[in-house]
Amino acid sequence: MGRIIVFANQKGGVGKTTSAANLGAYLAEEGKKVMLVDFDPQCNLSSSVGADVQNTGIYELITGQSPFNSCVQETSVKNLKIIPASPDLSGATVELVEVTNREYYLKEALLSIKEDYDYIFIDCPPSLGILTLNGLTAADEVFIPLQTEYFALEGITQLMQSIKMVQRSSNPALKIGGIIFTMYDSRTRLAQDVVKEVVGYFGNLVYKSIIPRNIRLSEAPSHSVPINQYDPGCAGAKSYHELAKEVIQRG
Ligand code: ADP
Ligand code: MG
Repeated sequence: MGRIIVFANQKGGVGKTTSAANLGAYLAEEGKKVMLVDFDPQCNLSSSVGADVQNTGIYELITGQSPFNSCVQETSVKNLKIIPASPDLSGATVELVEVTNREYYLKEALLSIKEDYDYIFIDCPPSLGILTLNGLTAADEVFIPLQTEYFALEGITQLMQSIKMVQRSSNPALKIGGIIFTMYDSRTRLAQDVVKEVVGYFGNLVYKSIIPRNIRLSEAPSHSVPINQYDPGCAGAKSYHELAKEVIQRG
């Protein structure tokens, strides 16, 4: 039975997309079957693995316009596939407001493939709107990427409130799967203090593999491949590989 994991944090630029792409790539490299689901109209996850966003994707899938098979694309990494987003997806934020059960659309769409993949990763936009609500409703677990900076915990209270609301309504089984530190700079005292504070708050939920700030991670998307195919020897690649092993091991 696959694990559906949603990457959520309503702050932008904290590493949701980078983590979904690279953790997914290393899980695939470890032999796991991974499906990436780009649920952000900005399509960053799709372009970072070279998917064609002009093709049918998640919007056509959730609206029932296209069958599953025509919405999936292969990537350059074996075992790693993607259902891309398209700018049309931003229309869904308006269209879904009108319909009943609007938070269940993604869940319904993913139900039939849950058995076929070990990991299904949903990448959300930087907001707590209807798309993220669909992500939280569809998922078994939330992964929360946190940047190790002063305002890291700002907004987390709101995210926790949204998670609790979803647990009370559309998805009682939703768990917090883990906190992932990103863009860590070991030279700064501040980054170390933030890690301590967050570990104090979340305890074991914090993954031990911390992702450093690493320029190669920000370059890889422009080459349309995850970091394991761009620069597997860099510090960022090694940290995502470690994280993948930790995710498998924690089960
Ligand atoms: P989000 O999806 O939360 O908005 P992204 O994953 O798109 O965040 O990351 C924001 C920006 O930071 C991107 O340009 C990305 O390439 C860059 N980035 C992400 N993680 C790192 C890192 N560990 N080191 C350096 N740059 C990073
Ligand atoms: Mg993103």
